[in-house]
Amino acid sequence: MTKKYNLQSLLLNIFSKTSAPLCLNDIEKKLSHKFNRTSIYRQLEKMLNSKVITKIETNKGAFYEQTESIDSHAHTHCKTCNEVECLEEEIKIKSDATNSFKREYSSIVIEGVCQNCSTIE
Ligand SMILES: [Zn+2]
Ligand SMILES: [Zn+2]
Repeated sequence: MTKKYNLQSLLLNIFSKTSAPLCLNDIEKKLSHKFNRTSIYRQLEKMLNSKVITKIETNKGAFYEQTESIDSHAHTHCKTCNEVECLEEEIKIKSDATNSFKREYSSIVIEGVCQNCSTIE
C-alpha cells in the first residue's frame, strides 16, 4: 500500500455527487488531493473499460459520467460555456441494426448554445 488515497473511490465519489458529465479539468478541480493528469486519465480509462463510467466525446474533448440505467441518451454541448447536459429521453437503437456490430458505447452529442448563453447576447 503505497498510495494514501484510492483514486478510483475518489472519482466514484465525485461522479455520484454530480449529475452533469465532467471533463478532465472539472475532475481535477473536484479532486480533494493532487494526482497527476496521467494517473487520472489512466484510472478513467480503466473505469471506462469496466463500464463504470461512460465517455461523451464533444468537439472540445471528452466528458465522463457515471453509467446510468438508461442505455443511451443524448447530450447537449454548449460551445460558449462548454457545459454538457444529459437529455432525459432514451435513444432507442434498433437491435437488428447493430446485430453484427459489437457496440461498446454510443455517444450522441448535440452541439450548440445553451439557454443561459443565448440570453446573454
Ligand atoms: Zn452555455
Ligand atoms: Zn448523460
